[in-house]
Amino acid sequence: MTTAYNWQLGREMDYRFEGGGAKRQFAAVFNINRCIACQTCTMACRSTWTFSPGQELMWWNNVETKPYGGYPRHWDVKTLELLEQANPGGQVWDAEDADDEAPYGRFEGRTIFEAAPPEERAIGYLPHDEEWKGPNRFEDHGTAWSAKGASLPEHEGWFFYLARICNHCTYPACLAACPRNAIYKRPEDGIVLIDQERCRGYRKCVEACPYKKAMYRSSTGTSEKCIGCYPRVEGTDPLTDGHPMEARCMAACVGKIRMQGLVDVEADGTWTTAREHPLYYLVHTEQVALPLYPQFGTQPNIYYIPPRWVPRDYLRQMFGPGVDRAIERYTRPSRTLLAVLQLFRASQQMIFSFDVEEGEKVAEIEVGGDTYEVFNDTAVGFDADRHEIVRISVEEPLYERPLKVNSI
Ligand code: SF4
Ligand code: SF4
Ligand code: SF4
Repeated sequence: MTTAYNWQLGREMDYRFEGGGAKRQFAAVFNINRCIACQTCTMACRSTWTFSPGQELMWWNNVETKPYGGYPRHWDVKTLELLEQANPGGQVWDAEDADDEAPYGRFEGRTIFEAAPPEERAIGYLPHDEEWKGPNRFEDHGTAWSAKGASLPEHEGWFFYLARICNHCTYPACLAACPRNAIYKRPEDGIVLIDQERCRGYRKCVEACPYKKAMYRSSTGTSEKCIGCYPRVEGTDPLTDGHPMEARCMAACVGKIRMQGLVDVEADGTWTTAREHPLYYLVHTEQVALPLYPQFGTQPNIYYIPPRWVPRDYLRQMFGPGVDRAIERYTRPSRTLLAVLQLFRASQQMIFSFDVEEGEKVAEIEVGGDTYEVFNDTAVGFDADRHEIVRISVEEPLYERPLKVNSI
């Protein structure tokens, strides 16, 4: 083991390899508040990559209903339990010790790497075949019915939809655990891939990935996982004229909950400062988007805007101590944040930077007893060469169709 800097934990941690390795990183923000569990993302991935024999139970993208749902079943509860057994009562954060280097404070517990026994690279478990079946069990199951009804800030009876793909982690457990060195992280975009020629199907990646996003395929005897739609990320699709394009599951999202891009990263895995990049803005400037189970230690690169109505303790366990600040800022968004939120799913081409053009005030609304002003600002998205690719206003324009007889 060596040590690597994990900015999400605010500290160095044990890892098999040195930190860094990628110059750019595949990253995304999912706004859970908007997901409707339509599973369009799931089917977009399925119909592109996992429709072949042996892939029947393989959902690289899945959307599960929390708190009871999970694919494979109870994946997160099981990993949390393993960590708790390894470090009883010690899986805690010091949220007070936060600064620019450690925006969520310092994690004082043990990661999956640090909790592992000496002969293993990471703590984990291998799900039974049964656990991969029925990927959407407990769909729409809430915690309780409440006679009081539901009101913010926390609902008594609640559930939410958690859309998940491989996190293309900065410190992938799948990669660290592979005894064949068959898994690699691409320096040009940080996408984590399994070399199918080298893989022998030992399933150490399946066991070690805390998100259970490496999966075994019996028909080939190898493991497979989300490939980050790398041909699209490379920009080989004629639709975007050679420019990097968002992945299939992202571009297909009906609820417009997803924004994906490439961010520049430093040698130690921290993000290069880029205030004009929409993902940097959401993750680092506003801090409304948070990593999923950062305490696992893999430094995942899919970030979530947490659901406003869910009890905070549950969310803090899932997204770390940044939850309260994230919800507060999302509930009363700044003008810039409100504009950037309009850019979700506004383009299939990746947005590398944004501008906001100020517009007139269009509304005054009550939020939590405060008066909140809404301005019709315009968000403008640019490609990597600073060419404009999208322009969208806060207020949705109303088009009136010409009055003429319908032809059908
Ligand atoms: S397509 Fe979007 S809204 Fe629909 S389930 Fe997937 S993430 Fe949610
Ligand atoms: S989410 Fe799992 S499969 Fe994906 S890179 Fe991280 S450890 Fe590997
Ligand atoms: S990024 Fe591509 S391969 Fe990965 S889950 Fe989404 S559609 Fe599937």
